[in-house]
Amino acid sequence: MEIAENNRAEQWRDYRRKRTAALLFGVGAFLTTGALALAIHICAGNHIVLGAALVTMTLAYIAYGVAIVRFHLWKCPRCGRRFIGVFDIFSFLRRKCFHCGLPVGHQTGGL
Ligand SMILES: [Zn+2]
Repeated sequence: MEIAENNRAEQWRDYRRKRTAALLFGVGAFLTTGALALAIHICAGNHIVLGAALVTMTLAYIAYGVAIVRFHLWKCPRCGRRFIGVFDIFSFLRRKCFHCGLPVGHQTGGL
């Protein structure tokens, strides 16, 4: 019983880690876009700075893509299906499973 509850708690921690990573990488990607725009404005003739800003922005968006896919593929502890719907644009605000309605952080009533 206690092992199952610990396992469930670890699953919810994993969910929150992935959600936080997706949010932070999204903000980071947005900020690197701003940094690229600033670099274009300030260092228009310096190709090294522009290249570094472009590479950084590209890597940030790749990291964001990986984080968002990992978050969207997270499985519900109760029904085993994806917790977030396919086209759920408000997934960061989701408080319960798209398929079975299990609330975020629910510790009992599982499998
Ligand atoms: Zn579910």
